Amino acid sequence: SPTFPEGLQDFLHALDRDIHADADWGTPASYIPELAAVDPAQFAISVAMADGRTISAGAHDKRFSIQSVSKVFTLAAALGRIGDALWARVGREPSGTAFNSIALLEQERGRPRNPFINAGALVTTDALLDGRQPREALAELIQFIRAAAEDEDIHIDKHVAASEEATGHRNAALAHYLYSFDNLRNEPDMTLGTYMHQCAISMTTDQLARSGRMLAGLEGAPRLISERRARRINALMMTCGHYDGSGDFAYRVGLPGKSGVGGGILMIAPGKASIAVWSPGLNHYGNSKAGTEAAHRLANFTGWSVFGG
Ligand code: GLN
Repeated sequence: SPTFPEGLQDFLHALDRDIHADADWGTPASYIPELAAVDPAQFAISVAMADGRTISAGAHDKRFSIQSVSKVFTLAAALGRIGDALWARVGREPSGTAFNSIALLEQERGRPRNPFINAGALVTTDALLDGRQPREALAELIQFIRAAAEDEDIHIDKHVAASEEATGHRNAALAHYLYSFDNLRNEPDMTLGTYMHQCAISMTTDQLARSGRMLAGLEGAPRLISERRARRINALMMTCGHYDGSGDFAYRVGLPGKSGVGGGILMIAPGKASIAVWSPGLNHYGNSKAGTEAAHRLANFTGWSVFGG
């Protein structure tokens, strides 16, 4: 039977009030102009629980750019398409580097450390493309997320995609560098464009929390991936989901999590809940500042850390 702490709804409302009272928002990403324009003083949290309910507080029906949280879904979809062959092209170790770093790629001869740094995500997106047109791969990805959330109203924000395409020189460099090592199978600009559109998917925290139920193994969640695959993706989220802030997130929150530079974080409490938080101001790792703080307080309240209550 579903286990969740009594009073969670009241706690979420109090958390929303406290986060606003602290007003410790951080700064929205500046390198994507559409994201730089977002008001940082916003917060939302949603918890999809084992009993099928989703409880929320704050701006939980406001859409935001999921950005790198999309890498979780691309990974799941790419593994579904090409299976473990993906691991010949991308590793499973934390990088200890920023999300957009190019530093390790030369010494590792074009095999990125993990699928959640940008270099590894570009390879994963390239695997999902698998010789198809970007629109086909993106349609598959969107359908996968909609099925996971059981919500058809999930779309790509074309303005955000265009905004990143106009300024994404570092990702372009990564894509071409990967191509030079024969680790992209499609034209680099095709993979890059697909990646930027995938990052521009916009969702509410309610939708995002519901889309993570398959990873939490919640009863009643759509069975889109096997338990074994979910467990492995959770392991990668725990070790690599916050880039060079992954250790600190594991220490403070103790849940597999994946952040995005739009200020979203998806967290998995296996068997218990799937949680999404959003606040667009970032800390120096490029992860949501207030979102991380809220995750810390939620983990303390619920005792959901995978390392013990
Ligand atoms: N689209 C962003 C980028 O590639 C995603 C980065 C992120 O969310 N950390 O720079």
